Amino acid sequence: MTICFTPTAEQVELKNQARAFAQTYLAPLVEEVRRTADPYEAALLVRSAHEAALKEGIIKGMIPEVFGGTMGSGLDLALVTEELAAVMPDFVASLGGILLALTPVYLGGDLEQIQRFLTPFLADHGTAQAVMALSEPAGTANFAAPEPAEGLQTVAVLDGDDWVITGEKQWSANLAGWDGTGPDLMIVACGTPGGVSLIGIERQHFTSDNLTLLETLDMPGLRGHLTQRVRLNGVRVPKANLVGAEGAGPELIFAAFTGSAAAVGLMAVGTMRAAFDIAYRFATEQTRGGGVPIIEHRPVADVLTDAKGRIEAVRLLSWKALDAVTSGDPAGLELALHAKVFGSETAVDVVHKLFQVVGVQAYNRGFPIVHHLLDALAYPVFEGGNIGVRRRQLQDIFTTAGWDPLAASGLS
Ligand SMILES: Cc1cc2nc3c(=O)[nH]c(=O)nc-3n(C[C@H](O)[C@H](O)[C@H](O)COP(=O)(O)OP(=O)(O)OC[C@H]3O[C@@H](n4cnc5c(N)ncnc54)[C@H](O)[C@@H]3O)c2cc1C
Repeated sequence: MTICFTPTAEQVELKNQARAFAQTYLAPLVEEVRRTADPYEAALLVRSAHEAALKEGIIKGMIPEVFGGTMGSGLDLALVTEELAAVMPDFVASLGGILLALTPVYLGGDLEQIQRFLTPFLADHGTAQAVMALSEPAGTANFAAPEPAEGLQTVAVLDGDDWVITGEKQWSANLAGWDGTGPDLMIVACGTPGGVSLIGIERQHFTSDNLTLLETLDMPGLRGHLTQRVRLNGVRVPKANLVGAEGAGPELIFAAFTGSAAAVGLMAVGTMRAAFDIAYRFATEQTRGGGVPIIEHRPVADVLTDAKGRIEAVRLLSWKALDAVTSGDPAGLELALHAKVFGSETAVDVVHKLFQVVGVQAYNRGFPIVHHLLDALAYPVFEGGNIGVRRRQLQDIFTTAGWDPLAASGLS
């Protein structure tokens, strides 16, 4: 077991680059995104940052070297995720959506498919979007449940050499693409005769007849993330676009959602860190008429010190989880689930307490901390809700015969 808590000089440089990217391309957009009432207009403001992410190699950094990308270690990914999330977690959620869609392609696709589907994401210009279209308006937590459960409502049937896909999808970023004509790549989860399967739909397969944008969701936080509901009405793609075997959908989906669970821990850290900075500055600068900065009142200091300790705890857990997932450690899944559940619920609690340090001034859209609370509220319910999906996965691990509670710590 190798334990090193110190990022290397290269990792510090990577963190600095990510911080500079966030300051250059994301920070100037934050206020306007929050102020823009129309959810579609708000999310479109962030398109320029997506263009920069492709140009500056951020997207390539999410693609493994073996497929032409520059993806580094789990800690590399963690450092970049936190820096971007501390400024605009909405943007991280959108990048995470791309990773969720591409991961099953790496894991289950054949070489020809991988090259074909990845091409727009290896380019150094454009605003390519890949979407993992799993979630549906009628529910997703039971997508892999056997009959008589309804499971997924979207279906694909074979017609000659084509799959024909019909159903409604919701929540994934960019489901209808930037302009409503479809994303560059949609990996759609659907029922096929052999079970739940994943099928790749490329941009050229969408037409104005087979893709209908039904709604742009008006989320309270993460407003730079374009979230829509669409109807797929007989989208026709070649048989060869099946990703992995027929019926392999659940396995590929759960594998894709493992790394993303660990990454949510880092989104939680970014949001807590941003809220902490606001509350700490307020507490050290403001007296609120009491003659001394409010940090000198013991209850205020206690909230701040507790928050800092919990941020450190979630950061280290999430580092370890991402490292375990990317290095293929069998403990990766359990650690990633803890990072997701513990990280997301800690973020809601910590940001809410920091909000109270600021007091009534915080209950004003013009004061920034409320926006961090609205962002944090998404973390327990997205990327697989903690109650409907993630805690059930943990329960499955805990009830596996021979499970060793010390294994994830490497202390068996
Ligand atoms: C910003 C954002 C980005 C997203 N990105 C994507 C994406 O890229 N791709 C994608 O496919 N989805 C995406 N989603 C959706 C997200 O992944 C959800 O977590 C997912 O749809 C599951 O939601 P849910 O757990 O609430 O399930 P639902 O099926 O809606 O369940 C609702 C509730 O019912 C209860 N419940 C249901 N079944 C059970 C059960 N068997 N056991 C216990 N309780 C149960 C739970 O309390 C659960 O919270 C995104 C959502 C947001 C907000």
